[in-house]
Amino acid sequence: MVDFELNEEQEMLVELARTFADDELIPNAEHWDREGLFPAESIYKARELGLLNCTIPQEYGGMGLSFLDEVMINEELGRGDPGFATITGVTMLACHPIIYAGTEEQKQEYLGRVCDGKISAYCVTEPGAGSDVKAITTTAILEGDNYIVNGAKMWIGGAGHADWFYVLAKTADENTYGALSGFIIEANSPGLSVGKKEEKMGQRSSDTRSVSFDNVKVPKANLVGGVEGNGWLQAMVAFDRSRPMLASHALGNARGAMEEAWQYANERRTFGKSIFEHQAISFMLADMATKIEGARLLAHKAASMLDKGERATLAAAHAKRYAADIGMEVTTDAVQIFGGYGYSEEFPAARRMRGAKIYQIFGGTSQIQKLIISREINKDYQ
Ligand SMILES: Cc1cc2nc3c(=O)[nH]c(=O)nc-3n(C[C@H](O)[C@H](O)[C@H](O)COP(=O)(O)OP(=O)(O)OC[C@H]3O[C@@H](n4cnc5c(N)ncnc54)[C@H](O)[C@@H]3O)c2cc1C
Repeated sequence: MVDFELNEEQEMLVELARTFADDELIPNAEHWDREGLFPAESIYKARELGLLNCTIPQEYGGMGLSFLDEVMINEELGRGDPGFATITGVTMLACHPIIYAGTEEQKQEYLGRVCDGKISAYCVTEPGAGSDVKAITTTAILEGDNYIVNGAKMWIGGAGHADWFYVLAKTADENTYGALSGFIIEANSPGLSVGKKEEKMGQRSSDTRSVSFDNVKVPKANLVGGVEGNGWLQAMVAFDRSRPMLASHALGNARGAMEEAWQYANERRTFGKSIFEHQAISFMLADMATKIEGARLLAHKAASMLDKGERATLAAAHAKRYAADIGMEVTTDAVQIFGGYGYSEEFPAARRMRGAKIYQIFGGTSQIQKLIISREINKDYQ
């Protein structure tokens, strides 16, 4: 049976997240974005309220919630401020490889630190390799009890504030998935340096930087799971588990844009009536609502599959790709409904649209999601 009802606990969680977004995120989002401010105090408040670290097990200090709970909470955070949602989202992205494959000591130490308020970051992309993960060139060579890591990562969310990094590196000199291994690297390691804050189109509160490794010594104990060659699987599991959440951020941002446009459409008058009364506008709003509903159903389906322990690669790709693409469409239409004011930074529509674009790029581009979808479905035709 498919059940679309929320239970009492979920209703309370969503209400809590919505109120937090209304009181803490929406009033600050414009200022954070304009000044490029990292919202450390609000991250602290969200954690105190129990809105972060949703799917980290309780034994390590997390909330121990379901993936479905996580996407519901995160839709509200994305509606509040997608930049904020990205910061808290990348911390979870870095935690997933540890939850999935970490040793007990790694879970206790590094998940424990995140649950105590530290931030972690996920270092896969490099200047020369994004979609093509296998093409990374960062190396980790075992010397005695340490790996020596050399290389550079690019576009790392939260890097300037991270306490530790999940880093994908090559432990064998081969162009194979088996050459990839995952490491936990402390931010204060000698030889690790974090670059300047990138000037981005949107989500400017989410700190994004390069991270370089110059002969960084990493204890053998920080090889994730204690096994070489498992990095590809860890990185991909992290994507499967975080794509429904990214989808919920994109659709939450789209929902925020639609709500703001809807209100404006009833206030703004042209030719003697509200612009909502022009069918071209009310139909545009109806299209937005349908797209958002569809995106939510896909995100919930992928999250529910994860909750059942099922492989969710296809469902997560559908959810991420659809929410990212409709997020761009809905926010662009919201700008249109605001007319000239939509083009002004005085109104939220422009910021929503700038913030929407990144969902088609990070966490696997929309083209890469289509690649996954087509490959996964094609298995049934071979
Ligand atoms: C703001 C921001 C934050 C980010 N945060 C992180 C982070 O925290 N951690 C991290 O590791 N990375 C992060 N990234 C990196 C992001 O995941 C990559 O930018 C993304 O995966 C694309 O890689 P690329 O930029 O190298 O583009 P490329 O891989 O060079 O792709 C360029 C274009 O070609 C297309 N393309 C590539 N290959 C194919 C193909 N086989 N078929 C069809 N089309 C293809 C792509 O879709 C894209 O349109 C972030 C990026 C940004 C901009």
